[in-house]
Amino acid sequence: MRIPLADILTATDHFAAKYCIVSGGFGSVFKSELDHVDKAYCFAIERENEREVPKKRSTVAIKRIMDIEDEIAQQGFYAEIEMLTSCKHSSIITLLGFCDEGGRMILIYEYASNGSLNYHLQNMGNNHNDSWEQRVKIFLDVAKGLSYLHTNQGDQREIVHRDIKSANILLDENFEAKLGDFGLSVFRSFSEEHYTRYSRTVAGTPGYMDPQYSKERKLKKESDVYSFGVVLFEILCGAVAYDTKYAEKNNQGLALLARQHFEKGSMMEIVDTKIQEIFGIIFPSIKVSYQESLHTFSRIAYNSLAEKQVERPTMEVVVKELEKTLFILVRLHFLTVY
Ligand code: ATP
Repeated sequence: MRIPLADILTATDHFAAKYCIVSGGFGSVFKSELDHVDKAYCFAIERENEREVPKKRSTVAIKRIMDIEDEIAQQGFYAEIEMLTSCKHSSIITLLGFCDEGGRMILIYEYASNGSLNYHLQNMGNNHNDSWEQRVKIFLDVAKGLSYLHTNQGDQREIVHRDIKSANILLDENFEAKLGDFGLSVFRSFSEEHYTRYSRTVAGTPGYMDPQYSKERKLKKESDVYSFGVVLFEILCGAVAYDTKYAEKNNQGLALLARQHFEKGSMMEIVDTKIQEIFGIIFPSIKVSYQESLHTFSRIAYNSLAEKQVERPTMEVVVKELEKTLFILVRLHFLTVY
């Protein structure tokens, strides 16, 4: 849905600094309210029964891409519109509208009030809601979002995200995770059949990027699985993949270090001390199950980081394993609390 520029300028007081939440090389993201965009309204328009849904004022995130002459920025802008309008899933951020008036590139999303996951990983001490179940729930949300992208849903084609990282995982008011930033995403048929044409330059983020893709330019769904493995280890270790403490130990960051510890059976040396504290105070009767769940997640993360794409699990399999483990944890929690 096209949003008039005048409405955006009014909502942000002409992109005033007080509305800005993040500023970077790409441009800036602003938080504000818009009158006529809201998730239910957007979905209703698609179902052609918009009259039944009243227009509401809602809080939105407005991304303004600055370098409008840059070809890569333009490709990213249109890729986000194309990909996100074809996705409807609770673990994927909703694109509420866009504005390309006068060559401007502005995207309007539902607002994720708890910001991005990398922020929480870097400020763990401040998150008082942090629990093992909550981290597991984030694994599962991300896995479900990716599984949805990787599976053909009738009229929706399969998508390779290409930039899975904690900075692109957004958390809403209930700490439910949503995949964002589809600027590098491609449809799968395009990625697999024509990747050599498209991927003359390899795109993604160092530290999260599939080594087989970066060496051979072979972009597959399994490249996202690799990046997902890195995010799992970030959550388990309570630090971002680009933390300087990993760079000091090797030049491949968290992925290599975590693989080495998993192989040696010494994961506890790098697991977040907060998780160790949580495990230290739980009832002895459920401790074993918690430790088993930690092992299951470490194994899923390890398998996702396999050097070769063919050795990595599919996201469908990952979702099933995570659901099984979460089910056991929730039941145990219920039994011990009630
Ligand atoms: P980068 O090049 O750093 O990946 P980008 O141009 O791709 O940046 P995004 O990753 O989409 O931009 O957004 C940058 C940051 O803005 C996010 O990490 C997040 O902190 C914030 N942000 C983006 N979208 C939202 C949203 N819907 N709700 C809340 N915050 C958001």
